Amino acid sequence: MQFLSTRAETEPHNFSEAVKIGLAPDGGLFVPSELPDLTDEFHTWAGESYAKVCYRFFRRFATEIEDGELESLIANAYTEFDDAKLAPLIELDDRISVLELFHGPTLAFKDYALQLLGRLYERQVAITGDTINVLGATSGDTGAAAINGLIGRSGVNIFILYPDGRISSLQERQMTCTGESNVFPIAVEGSFDDAQRELKVVFGDREFSERIKLSAVNSINLARILAQCVYYIYAWLKIGESRREKTTFVVPTGNFGNVLAGWLAYRMGMKVAGFRVATNQNDILNRFFNTGEYSVGMATRSLAPSMDIQVASNFERFLYYALGGDGNRVRKVMEDFKSTGIFKVDDQSIIKSMSSSRMTDEEILDTIKAVYQKYGYVCDPHTACAFKELDEFEHCVILATAHPAKFPETVLEATGQETIQSSLEALKSREIVKYPLHGDANTIKAFIESKQITP
Ligand SMILES: *Cc1c(COP(=O)(O)O)cnc(C)c1O
Repeated sequence: MQFLSTRAETEPHNFSEAVKIGLAPDGGLFVPSELPDLTDEFHTWAGESYAKVCYRFFRRFATEIEDGELESLIANAYTEFDDAKLAPLIELDDRISVLELFHGPTLAFKDYALQLLGRLYERQVAITGDTINVLGATSGDTGAAAINGLIGRSGVNIFILYPDGRISSLQERQMTCTGESNVFPIAVEGSFDDAQRELKVVFGDREFSERIKLSAVNSINLARILAQCVYYIYAWLKIGESRREKTTFVVPTGNFGNVLAGWLAYRMGMKVAGFRVATNQNDILNRFFNTGEYSVGMATRSLAPSMDIQVASNFERFLYYALGGDGNRVRKVMEDFKSTGIFKVDDQSIIKSMSSSRMTDEEILDTIKAVYQKYGYVCDPHTACAFKELDEFEHCVILATAHPAKFPETVLEATGQETIQSSLEALKSREIVKYPLHGDANTIKAFIESKQITP
């Protein structure tokens, strides 16, 4: 299988190469050259373990990696989860289930992809002998998950930008208290969108990114999206066959990576009723799904900080499919978008499988409380955003994207319950190491350069 850029000006890459560089050199995102039809195959995976489903799925994409190697790499990636099922499906009532995706080492769904990505990087380093410098920006959880996926992997340095003061203190501790010398958490001024924009400028410097062997760990990396397809398929196979097609996945959304993964699985044959894009008050996507117009505003701080995003990078992949896989049109739309901050989709047929909702901070607190009172279930502020306007669904699966203990203040305020989680408690006594920097591309490049060990 080959991978193409959404902007059509990059040579096809195989899976490993596309994963290694992350962002396509023309500024686009990698997509599979074709989406396989797995309608019949999916059913044969029922009853398999999570790692096995993951292997069967990746077998279709990572075609240049040998069977045995791929299988053991994937099996290893899912050894550090605290629930034997990895992604348990909890039934709240006969209409609403929760898919818990916070059983990985950093307690957010991003572990499911980043534990795997870390192993893929390590494999690449072993093959080429080159050190890889991983660069990412985080709105809170990616950084910790990326760092955790890469800790102890030889030949990898990791640089993570995060908006200073805009992530929770536990999220910050997860990144800054690792005690590892190849981990560089960089606190920058401004919002996540500012950091993400500068990061794209750094990647856009081809000379720099090729020389330094820079790789993108954000959900622009296609391996992350594919890894996330797996828990949708795994959960879907757990739902009784008669209900599968009536199920809607409800997804707390920021960068659009998670919901896009589900939608790709749907395009490959995972038949469901649809997807709900659940946003917080930063509701650019909600506005898009209501009006067909995507227009950028300012990201404001909310109680669900990992969703405080205005420019959803992965939306470009969705647009690619919405425009019939025409990379030239995508490039044009993205260029216009860069100058005007707006684009409009005329043919709305592609979005008919999606609906959207929006939740304010006040509603988040009320929802955490109401869900706790009604079901005795404590959810985190991101997951709370999903509990809105669910009456129209015959059956829905809410993706629980983070463990409530990551956001103890909000959960305490809403429910009066202390949420304690031992791995997070242990962080509180550790030393914080972070690098406050002005977040412009040149400063970031100089910093990365200064951390290269010259032979
Ligand atoms: C990253 C994150 C999200 C948003 O996911 P996207 O893939 O960016 O849409 C939602 N909830 C939590 C807890 C997250 O860490």
